[in-house]
Amino acid sequence: MSTPTFVQGAKKLLIGGQWVEPGSGQYIDAINPATGERLCQIARGDAPDVDRAVAAARRAFEGPWSRFTAHERRKLLLRVHDVILDNFDELALIETLDMGAPLARTRGYKEWLSQLLQFYASQTGAGTVTASPLSIAPNFTALKHLMPVGVVGGIIPWNGPLMGLWWIYGPALATGCTAVLKPAEDASLSSLRVSELMMEAGVPDGVINVVTGYGKDVGEALAGHMGVDRVAFTGSVGTAQAIVRASAGNLKRLQLELGGKSPDIVFADADLDKAVPGASMGVFTNTGQVCVAGTRILVQRAVHDEFAQRMVAFAKTIKIGDGREPGTQIGPLISQRQLERVMHYVDIGGKEAELVHGGRRLGGELTNGFFVEPTVFANVRNNMTIAQEEIFGPVASVIPFDSAEDALQLANDTPYGLAGGVWTRDLSTAHKVSQGIRSGTVWVNCYGVIDPAVGFGGTKMSGYGWKGGKEHVESFLYPKATYINLD
Ligand code: ADP
Repeated sequence: MSTPTFVQGAKKLLIGGQWVEPGSGQYIDAINPATGERLCQIARGDAPDVDRAVAAARRAFEGPWSRFTAHERRKLLLRVHDVILDNFDELALIETLDMGAPLARTRGYKEWLSQLLQFYASQTGAGTVTASPLSIAPNFTALKHLMPVGVVGGIIPWNGPLMGLWWIYGPALATGCTAVLKPAEDASLSSLRVSELMMEAGVPDGVINVVTGYGKDVGEALAGHMGVDRVAFTGSVGTAQAIVRASAGNLKRLQLELGGKSPDIVFADADLDKAVPGASMGVFTNTGQVCVAGTRILVQRAVHDEFAQRMVAFAKTIKIGDGREPGTQIGPLISQRQLERVMHYVDIGGKEAELVHGGRRLGGELTNGFFVEPTVFANVRNNMTIAQEEIFGPVASVIPFDSAEDALQLANDTPYGLAGGVWTRDLSTAHKVSQGIRSGTVWVNCYGVIDPAVGFGGTKMSGYGWKGGKEHVESFLYPKATYINLD
């Protein structure tokens, strides 16, 4: 499998339809986390580059893009759909090289992405005007428009940019907004290539812009920029708090999807043949680098030991390796920094709970990559550090519980509220417990499924705002009433 020609040289910034040098003249190495080797370089943007990108996005928003009809935006989104799907093998390989997820996963995004783009294409009429006769006075009428909010800053993480960037570009194109995207410094290549392909598909200059670089240079500038009307952020709580503060200048709208410590609750009556692999991959998939990962697996005491044993047996079957190798199910962590963070938590877990599987960095052929074994701790108590803090690695805490009330009390004893799961054959338990979990998303007898037309989101310290569904599209619009005197 040859490396795509895109993955070479020094990648520039996309501003106003042109690929331009960063003002700093500096570049950052893009590293393949499976080998530790340099793939190519990305531009190190900074605040003046953000100024240029926001100005280009504003010009496009107020200029030609504002004259696109809903029908034209729909046709454009469908062209983008076709171009992205036609080039999907290359995009999947770029993502695998840049952030480590196996090809089985990155190629698997294709059908989902097709559905997502078709969903946003179907939403271009969301701003359509509605009229109503006024009931308070004769000879008056009112028009209600939903107007695009303007320039949207998208700050995304490294754990799946090939999917994550569409939560910015999809609704922006659907509603007539423009976007400045800031991918994570550890994984920017798929965002750059997708944006290049979108320009080829006919997205007008300035409608999408990409400024790569570090969070403290580019992200901070975008979050504080007076010309940005809305910021959509996915990442950690600490960064979100900085973004909230930075947004105060022009009171920009925010959408925040943050971390989680999601409970996945397995009742004794669950079908363990499904619950064991389902809950295991609910935490191990993407090497645990998933916001919604079900990292706290609460298991009813009667089946706790059996579940833990079967989970270990399942974990032993998982093929870990370079994502390009056929059959690889789990790739490396994103970086040396992330590896150190995960190993730090594994050390803490070893002191406070029972390590029943994994916990080691992988050697041999994988020494130069950032590989760690899927790790299972059993008999964990919910107040332990590994059950309270987000690890963002393949580390599961299996926690015993007695009753459904007990499970809910433990499930909700966390500052987060992103997701959760319930495994049971009992309909009443499924309903009661899924309603009792304080989170934006719950899965019953499955984990991690997301329909772009329905969406997902969080509550508590997992953030606010919704991705996908009509609510997401409407969050890129603001309502405007026009009252007309007919006399
Ligand atoms: P993680 O710890 O998972 O990398 P972060 O929240 O640090 O999560 O990163 C998510 C995104 O936010 C990345 O694109 C990163 O560059 C960006 N970022 C980091 N710090 C800031 C900041 N102070 N302001 C805005 N964006 C930031």
